[in-house]
Amino acid sequence: MRDCIFCKIVAKKIPAELIREAAEFIVIKDIQPKAPVHLLIIPKKHIPSMNEVTEADRQLLGQMLEEAKRLAVDYGLSGRGYKVVINCGREGGQMVPHVHFHFLGGQMVPGLF
Ligand code: AMP
Ligand code: ZN
Repeated sequence: MRDCIFCKIVAKKIPAELIREAAEFIVIKDIQPKAPVHLLIIPKKHIPSMNEVTEADRQLLGQMLEEAKRLAVDYGLSGRGYKVVINCGREGGQMVPHVHFHFLGGQMVPGLF
């Protein structure tokens, strides 16, 4: 989608710190990290928010959750713990209207997530 920052990152039209690229999603570092490990799992498909997710996205969302589990292993966080967060809409704190999972680990900034 034009004018969507995450679509532009997916299309490599603007730079990002790419951690992993899979067929259906990418993982990048959050530009303003709220925890020592703060990654974003972003589907390549433009879905504005959780509100627009449908049955057709089941496999995609499952793959994104599996990726969170894999990231926890890769970053040594499985035993220590971590968060997977989806913000939705204005009061849910969603700033970028392209659905994404936050993966957060390490010492959190209190009150932010
Ligand atoms: P949300 O508030 O859930 O929509 O989260 C959007 C997240 O995207 C925030 O944590 C931002 O710091 C992050 N963000 C915005 N622009 C970029 C960018 N160009 N590269 C990486 N992360 C970004
Ligand atoms: Zn988009």
